[in-house]
Amino acid sequence: MKKEMKFGTLCVHAGEAPDPSYGAHTTPIYQTSTFVFENAEQGAARFAGEEEGYTYMRIMPNSPTHAALVEKVAVLEGAETGQTFSSGMAAITAVALSQLEKGDHLLSSNVLYGSTYSLFSSILTKYGVEVSFVDTSDLEQVKNHIKKNTKMIFLETPANPTLIICDIAETSKMAKEIGALSIVDNTFATSYFQRALPLGADAVVHSSTKYIGGHADLLGGVVVGSKEFIKSMESIVNTTGATMGPLEAWLCIRGLKTLHLRMEKHACNAMAVAQFLEAHPKIEWVRYPGLTSHPQHEIAKKQMSGFGGMISFGIKGGIEAGRKLMNNVALCTLAVSLGAVDTLIQHPASMTHATIAREVRLKVGITDNMVRISVGVEDSEDIIADLDQALALT
Ligand SMILES: *Cc1c(COP(=O)(O)O)cnc(C)c1O
Repeated sequence: MKKEMKFGTLCVHAGEAPDPSYGAHTTPIYQTSTFVFENAEQGAARFAGEEEGYTYMRIMPNSPTHAALVEKVAVLEGAETGQTFSSGMAAITAVALSQLEKGDHLLSSNVLYGSTYSLFSSILTKYGVEVSFVDTSDLEQVKNHIKKNTKMIFLETPANPTLIICDIAETSKMAKEIGALSIVDNTFATSYFQRALPLGADAVVHSSTKYIGGHADLLGGVVVGSKEFIKSMESIVNTTGATMGPLEAWLCIRGLKTLHLRMEKHACNAMAVAQFLEAHPKIEWVRYPGLTSHPQHEIAKKQMSGFGGMISFGIKGGIEAGRKLMNNVALCTLAVSLGAVDTLIQHPASMTHATIAREVRLKVGITDNMVRISVGVEDSEDIIADLDQALALT
């Protein structure tokens, strides 16, 4: 299997090889906490990092199941290597704790997954990290907020839930100029539509709970980057122990085998749903990177090969109308999370982004009447018919 093969082939084949023990065709789930050494010398050599191999599942590289997943994600993202975690938040926390220390400045997007915002604003600051939240879709703002001690620029693009787009190449260039790291949360687009490392980012993080797993049946996170970057996370990974379970690693491997098929359908359906919503009289506004009405549609076209499956929109009649809509859908599932095969609908202000103070939310465009949809891979006609009937009752 060559790395220059096409994306779909890599989804199916990267990281996959018959198991050396018995020739199992699919990667076995190594359900074990510890690994047996042939002798005391080997155990010592593994712990000293002089011999490659496994020791204990909390310790990098965890297990052969984890290693297969890491290789698959790394190949798909164009990275040298990576590390898996028990959740997307565990992955982001490990990146922050391993790269930042007291006195460092973190410059972050002001629209972020709710828990990432809480981690940066309430936890990192407790340990003496300075944090600025800026509109990273505006390069001038990024430039104006860079400080002498800026150590990391963190982008979420497309951002959750406003779907704002940031210019990865330009921002990474600014980070490089000052010797800071640029980190991109690529959960929404996935490597199928957006590869941040070739654009200059130092590392990419994912909640593999979402499109990588793809079926709403696991929690997981992944970080990919250079060998040097992943190595720099080793002590935090090994000591904090937010280890992905082997079953979850296996489910992610299985999910990734159809990533290209699912993302294509998610995006195709999302475009149809976005166009339907944009034309509907009860809808105030629609935000989807594929619509020409999106404020950063041009940047999206430049750095993404497709626009993903996430849409947010404002409904006329405010929060009450939104509540009615969510209670009236029949096919769509009323649930947070995203990237599942079924269409999920939720209300950011009272659900995923409820931890953010209302003034802060409103300032960054997370309005009370915003509804977010993760468009699934059902037939688009049925999704649209469900939204149509629900809107008629709203
Ligand atoms: C869900 C999500 C996370 C957090 O991932 P978990 O697996 O839930 O911990 C981080 N970033 C984005 C963009 C997400 O959607």
